[in-house]
Amino acid sequence: MIIAEESVSRAFQQRIITSDLVVVGGGLSGVCCAITAARAGIKVTLVQDRPVLGGNASSEVRLWVLGATSHMGNNNRWAREGGVIDEILVENMYRNPEGNAVIFDTVMLDKVVSEPNITLLLNTAVIDVDKSSADQISSARAFCSQNSVEYVLKAPLFCDASGDGVLGFLSGAAFRMGAESQDEFGEKFAPTKEYGELLGHSLYFYSKDTGKPVNFVPPSYALEDITKIPRYRKFNTREFGCNLWWVEYGGRLDTVHETETIKWELWKVIYGIWNHIKNSGQFPEARNLTLEWVGTIPGKRESRRFVGDYLLTQQDIVEQRTHSDAVAFGGWSIDLHPADGVFSEKPGCNQWHGKGIYQIPYRSYYSKNVNNLFIAGRIISVTHVAFGSSRVMGTSAYGGQAVGMAAALCREQNVLPAALGSEKNIRMLQQRLIASGQYIPGLTLSDSEDLVRTAKLTASSELHLSELPEEGLLKSLDPAVAQMLPLSQGRVPRFTVHAQSEKATTLEVELRLCSRAASYTPDVVLKTLRIAITPGRNCVKLDFDTELTATQYVFIMFRKNADIKLHFTSKRVTGILTVFNQVNEAVSNYGKQEPPDDIGIDSFEFWCPQRRPAGENIAMKIDTPLKDFGVNNLTNGVARPTCQSNAWVADFSDASPSIKMTWPVAKAIRTMVLKFDTDYDHPMESVLMGHPENVMPFCVRNYKIRDDQGKVVFEKKGNYQTHNTIRFDEPVRTRSLTVEVEHPSDNVSASIFEVLCYEPGAVMHN
Ligand SMILES: Cc1cc2nc3c(=O)[nH]c(=O)nc-3n(C[C@H](O)[C@H](O)[C@H](O)COP(=O)(O)OP(=O)(O)OC[C@H]3O[C@@H](n4cnc5c(N)ncnc54)[C@H](O)[C@@H]3O)c2cc1C
Repeated sequence: MIIAEESVSRAFQQRIITSDLVVVGGGLSGVCCAITAARAGIKVTLVQDRPVLGGNASSEVRLWVLGATSHMGNNNRWAREGGVIDEILVENMYRNPEGNAVIFDTVMLDKVVSEPNITLLLNTAVIDVDKSSADQISSARAFCSQNSVEYVLKAPLFCDASGDGVLGFLSGAAFRMGAESQDEFGEKFAPTKEYGELLGHSLYFYSKDTGKPVNFVPPSYALEDITKIPRYRKFNTREFGCNLWWVEYGGRLDTVHETETIKWELWKVIYGIWNHIKNSGQFPEARNLTLEWVGTIPGKRESRRFVGDYLLTQQDIVEQRTHSDAVAFGGWSIDLHPADGVFSEKPGCNQWHGKGIYQIPYRSYYSKNVNNLFIAGRIISVTHVAFGSSRVMGTSAYGGQAVGMAAALCREQNVLPAALGSEKNIRMLQQRLIASGQYIPGLTLSDSEDLVRTAKLTASSELHLSELPEEGLLKSLDPAVAQMLPLSQGRVPRFTVHAQSEKATTLEVELRLCSRAASYTPDVVLKTLRIAITPGRNCVKLDFDTELTATQYVFIMFRKNADIKLHFTSKRVTGILTVFNQVNEAVSNYGKQEPPDDIGIDSFEFWCPQRRPAGENIAMKIDTPLKDFGVNNLTNGVARPTCQSNAWVADFSDASPSIKMTWPVAKAIRTMVLKFDTDYDHPMESVLMGHPENVMPFCVRNYKIRDDQGKVVFEKKGNYQTHNTIRFDEPVRTRSLTVEVEHPSDNVSASIFEVLCYEPGAVMHN
């Protein structure tokens, strides 16, 4: 029994937690930052003001995580972000292909609580900051309303991933809010004041069919006159959740301090919409529908952007400019919205895509004046226009990972964030990030500790692709389709395809490539062939009679002709794809991007894959087999397709595919890393949208590792992850290691992107 006598006042219980890094905000940026830092060996406190992790991706808001893949609706191939965010999305796909937002919460929580180096504080809001000097934070103060404890979170390094930048704000870090003028950075897409300078908040709802009629009595605050929403006719009974992203409000208000006002307005709109659907009489199909869930916390798009040593701009994105300190990439369109949101007469968004993904420099991830403060998420150092692209969660999380690794390196080198910017340190940071799965465009892994680089590599077979066999699968050339193939420098092979037509017509075929390295906008036409097609089956020989000046992807593009059917195949190969000239309105892809002249955006066609089970390859014969799938790809330092497949792929006919590493003298191997193909082209939207498969078809499921005596030293069954790290209890002493893999299926040959091996004590960063 506690009996407390009267007192003038009391203080909350206080707890002091000391760590190497305090991460404020448990959105995906904070989560991926904390996990990356913890795995790199430093102690992390992750403080999140809400009951679950994920921020806008959590079940409280229910936004699907997207990044450079942009719903597969742009020309960024194999662009899903790697590292921890990849691991989380692949795990979610495995456990939750239905896109249940509550299950996604558990995936994120699971990942965080599995890290012994992370202290997680949920329901705990940072509300104050202590500084040791004008430019340095010594602790963040936070309060948990659930246990009435005040926390003092001490650390030498801090990361603000709180969305509104609460720590940056309190500590006096320089920030901007609202749009830059066109003149300041020469950004031609900078919006006018009339269009608006801030993106607003949104709230979502989910509906459910109960199987029996349900009445709806609207609350007093529901919007009565639905016609106040200019696009109210677009509401229907099928769309809910993320599909209603354009139910947006608040872009003309202070999106930090007036958030509660904005939320009430959004509730008003949501209940008004539901009242319209249930009670206007226009939606008889809504009789059995009920509101299953309405958001209580608005999804915030934009507020403060903090200023680092570099402000990323529109030109960085559109021109895909390179930065010597690149640590991440983006690839969502530049996506700005009218400030009046749902009440605007204008389209809900104005999206313009780049020709490929773009680098983000390290200098955008720390404050220029608070010298132990990293920034991650939507608040990074970018202009309002560049923010239009960098703000999405895949990209935000990727930056978070770069910060997590940088923080670990800062502790190791005993330096502050800006001081990590020396050439040597940046190279070390980039190398560690790449080893952990973070693809940085244009960079490769060269890990001197990796023993595979000194091994002789052999394989049971290597795919020499001379045929994608015909199987009676005929598809119309409507839409137009292009087969993407990685070709070596030199003469372009001759291809044979089979076309079917009921009448005489002309087949138009183009050989195209992208003007930019490792990008996939087919904006250069090398050759065009026009081939007469006769009624019936036609054997079409394609001789482009052309040389390639570099190894790269080409597009063999069959122009739309609804009279022609082509033979396709169900065989799929790592690094080989078909793309289609189709519309994807969800990301403003109308087949071709045609911006007005004066906004600094490129015109080009969209050629995008179809989601499985569609998107098969074109059946073809190739006169000079493609030899892009050799075992040497395992050590080329790139673990996803770029200008080539970068994968070892076994021959389809190889009954026991394997690769073998042999050393002249025995090695003691403590750790191995295998990187498999979990289809970086797949966006893996985390919620709402279901997916037809929970394991990517290219991914090796079953494998064994044998030593030089043939003894199985490791066996895995049922793998579905990209990155497999194997730590042997005792180092394996051997002159060779053989990785025996099973083909994922009859239609997909086994492949591996990368193998790494380390001795005990090696500084490896996986
Ligand atoms: C309607 C809408 C549609 C969008 N569409 C997409 C989309 O389709 N795909 C996509 O990827 N992105 C989309 N975005 C953008 C994206 O959701 C945000 O830009 C992204 O969430 C930013 O990530 P973040 O980690 O910076 O912030 P958040 O996800 O907001 O995470 C910040 C976290 O910090 C916590 N926090 C805040 N203050 C404190 C404090 N004082 N103490 C402790 N914790 C605190 C918050 O609770 C939150 O969990 C959309 C945004 C909106 C609103």
